[in-house]
Amino acid sequence: SAKDRGKSTVAAYDSRLHAEALDRLELRADLQRAIFSNELLLHYQPTVELETGKIVGFEALVRWQHPVRGLLSPAAFVPMAEETGLVVQLNTWVLFEATRFAVVLQNDWRRPTMAVNISAQQLVRPDFVEQVNRALAESGLPADRLTLEITESVVLQDLEDVIPRLAQLRSRGVRVAIDDFGTGYSSLAYLTELPIDVLKVDKSFIDRVASDAQGASVTEAIIAMSHTMNLSTVAEGVEVAEQAAWLRQVRCPIGQGYYWSRPVDEAGVHELLSRPTNELGGSADLVSYRT
Ligand code: C2E
Ligand code: MG
Ligand code: MG
Ligand code: MG
Repeated sequence: SAKDRGKSTVAAYDSRLHAEALDRLELRADLQRAIFSNELLLHYQPTVELETGKIVGFEALVRWQHPVRGLLSPAAFVPMAEETGLVVQLNTWVLFEATRFAVVLQNDWRRPTMAVNISAQQLVRPDFVEQVNRALAESGLPADRLTLEITESVVLQDLEDVIPRLAQLRSRGVRVAIDDFGTGYSSLAYLTELPIDVLKVDKSFIDRVASDAQGASVTEAIIAMSHTMNLSTVAEGVEVAEQAAWLRQVRCPIGQGYYWSRPVDEAGVHELLSRPTNELGGSADLVSYRT
């Protein structure tokens, strides 16, 4: 009967939820182990000077080589790490690993900077500044080669604590970037209050520049504002030559995206740096993830 069919639909739904909950529980236990057992790894994506094609830095992006599930992207486990508080340990590992590798890269004539994504929970900890200082001291990376990427919502959560902390780090040379700019609270008033160096314009704004005139003018206004505030500007998620050309035209200094390279492993970074500057573009090996 219809009633029975209803019941079995509900039962199927229940058991699916149950399976998902179990799955998450399992993944959570796994993550705890992964942090201590070398299953996390970093891929690095270059940032490129638009005018010249020269690599100026890399962003460290975490992945999880799960023994059963394969290579997982941050979307598959960072939110869970945030919920459970494991993100603090995760990001501590990322900070130390990324600075270690960044030192190796300082032998290159470009002396590329290294950008690390910082989560809210990490930033509000009283020992955050000390942790960054320790990563710099232990690795030997010059402070001005490290960029901390922070999203708008993260900074706005606890302005009074966060501003002096960022100012302290900046006073010793560490650079601070606002990540995914334009997707958060989008209040421009706070921008002038923040001790920052770099604005990373979110991919959603770059997606529109080649196709949509109105979208392009908003993106152009953001880039102009960033320039007026003496910030460096990075265009995120540049995928095609038209976007790169448009960005050059509006004097955006730096780009990042698949057009130049996907995030790559350490060997891939060395390979990118060994290429002649004008040959960078689009051809880096594709890596596929499960999300
Ligand atoms: P994000 O910091 O904005 O990083 C940029 C993301 O955009 C990366 O995704 C990168 O692979 C992707 N991307 C770059 N260029 C292109 C492009 O041309 N087209 C497209 N479609 N995508 C592009 P990924 O590696 O999956 O990272 C996603 C997010 O996860 C990051 O966004 C960041 O918020 C977070 N994340 C990554 N690593 C860490 C970490 O170590 N700690 C924390 N807390 N979060 C991290
Ligand atoms: Mg980032
Ligand atoms: Mg970003
Ligand atoms: Mg983004």
